[in-house]
Amino acid sequence: MNFTDVSLSKATIQTNKLLNNIQTFKSLLAKSTKFMAVIKANAYSHGAIPLAREMEKAHAADFFGVAQLSEALELRDAGIQTPILVFNSMRPNEIELAIKQNVALTVFSKEVAQEIVRMAENLKHKARVHLKIDSGMARLGVTTFEEALDVYQSLNSEYVWIEGIYTHFADAPDGQPGNFTQEQFARFKKILDAFSDQQISFDLRHCCNTAATINFPEYQLDMVRVGLGLYGLDPTLSAKGRDVLEPIETVQAIVTHVKDFPAGQSVGYDRTFFSKKPMRIATVAIGYADGVAKSLSNVGWFTYKGHSLPIIGEICMDQLMLDCSEVEDLAIGDTVTYFGDPKDDHLLLTEVAKSANASQYDLLCRIGNRVERVYQ
Ligand SMILES: *Cc1c(COP(=O)(O)O)cnc(C)c1O
Repeated sequence: MNFTDVSLSKATIQTNKLLNNIQTFKSLLAKSTKFMAVIKANAYSHGAIPLAREMEKAHAADFFGVAQLSEALELRDAGIQTPILVFNSMRPNEIELAIKQNVALTVFSKEVAQEIVRMAENLKHKARVHLKIDSGMARLGVTTFEEALDVYQSLNSEYVWIEGIYTHFADAPDGQPGNFTQEQFARFKKILDAFSDQQISFDLRHCCNTAATINFPEYQLDMVRVGLGLYGLDPTLSAKGRDVLEPIETVQAIVTHVKDFPAGQSVGYDRTFFSKKPMRIATVAIGYADGVAKSLSNVGWFTYKGHSLPIIGEICMDQLMLDCSEVEDLAIGDTVTYFGDPKDDHLLLTEVAKSANASQYDLLCRIGNRVERVYQ
């Protein structure tokens, strides 16, 4: 289907920029460091399968990271062969599928470890696992070496390949002295060293997400796990990443109505906006159901040919209204932009998130299914 035919909104995704961003990260890393592209949540809504295909074709990623087994299976179903790690722990009924589809499992409990051994030995098919250490995120993982060793020993089988060990940082955008990432890395390192003391080593020790890869490249170990940065956005909110990464996505929608509007009238639901003077208003076919943050009502902007058009009134589910008084040539059928690459005179999502008082991750993932994805 074509945007110009039917869809009223589209997300243009430039895969060459995705590949450039990966190159940019690789240039910060040692040659031997492996690169995991994190494409959970449908690649932060960009479309996991098309992006995985592009990356696989270009040999750009050594691993893909996803949150849930269902996401890994969709990729395998689409013919993706690259190694995939699932960050969540597996429930017993998922383990067989994961092993059969050659999906690497995250493990941090003895019970799951034993189930993996049982299943792998039954299937006579090697399970590929990564141990998860909780060094301070307090989400998933074991916190002590003793627990980690216990899980490790429970995995003892010729049908289990304990390929990796990893942890996840809670606050890596903070690069200030005394930051928590240093503390977390020290805890992780202590556990790695204790394994070394037992003559136990791992091929892939990993801890860096995008922010840590930018702020703490010295913690890269054997692999980094980059998500947001793939898409050209910098979680550290510093100039460091912003200057070198290229935002890959532009979200746009079509103007469906333009009108001259008198002073003293309200616009939209709940009547939160009143015109102070006569103005021109454009109605646009995109709303919060498509992912435009409702908190941008009366505070955010769209852009059109370098002009900023303030969002007026409450954002509706499927539509929103813009003040286009300053842009005389804006007409029905024109395309206005929610966010994109500032080099093309669009707003950077990082700035939109600031206006919305929301996180970039959240806004990015919210882009809905009705927004047609166009890959270039
Ligand atoms: C989501 C996630 C990442 C990627 O994080 P970004 O900040 O997007 O780079 C890495 N590792 C784990 C375990 C994750 O859940």
